[in-house]
Amino acid sequence: MKFTTDGLIVKESFTGESDRIITVLTRDRGLLRSFAPGARRIKSRNVSSTQLLAYSRLSFAESKGIYRVESAAAHDVFFGLRSDIEKLALAQYFCELSSAFVQEGDSSEEILRLMLNCLKFLETGAKPAKMLKAIAELRLISLSGYMPDLVACSVCGCFGESVYHFDISEGSVTCAECLDGLSTGIPIPYSVFCAMRHVIYSDFNKLFSFSLDDESLSVLTDVCERYLLERADKRFASLEFYNSLT
Ligand SMILES: [Zn+2]
Repeated sequence: MKFTTDGLIVKESFTGESDRIITVLTRDRGLLRSFAPGARRIKSRNVSSTQLLAYSRLSFAESKGIYRVESAAAHDVFFGLRSDIEKLALAQYFCELSSAFVQEGDSSEEILRLMLNCLKFLETGAKPAKMLKAIAELRLISLSGYMPDLVACSVCGCFGESVYHFDISEGSVTCAECLDGLSTGIPIPYSVFCAMRHVIYSDFNKLFSFSLDDESLSVLTDVCERYLLERADKRFASLEFYNSLT
């Protein structure tokens, strides 16, 4: 069977003298692991289009569950990410997240769109890296079936309080009055509560259209990372490396 699709290379490893094994976040087939023969040869047209972080048009041949790239043409290789160690580390975390939350055969168009936009904003510097990290984590986890309930206080239903407490194990918020003495929810100011609501409930076209002051942005970054790690229940080497740089 042969087919052509678009995809972001989220993982690469090398095998033999000139071959790559790549993992691709595709537009319409979830995550695919594929052999990319000859992709390390200098003359190969597939060199840049099958490297990590390339977004490419890829033609595959599949036989008995084994995929091979027959041809590849890059739409974008995100060149600007490769010369900045912090940006590259965060981009690699986005790739590791995609690998962790998407399976072969999943509907992956929205997650691909999310990752491509995060990478482009990161490359151009148009949005703060902290904000992009929080958006990638919270939107991805929501698309993966773990959307927190941020409609209002989970006990009394109030909305508009100056501080809420976010419970990372329940994925819900409680107002200060309803918080019992035993709860260990993370205090989040109303601005962060609204930013989190925006990230999970807004249309994609408006997803990146908000701003926060530095202090609130730090709270948002912290709470999104903790929620993601709670739900993922695993460690991310690329996240630990990124955090060691910042
Ligand atoms: Zn309440």
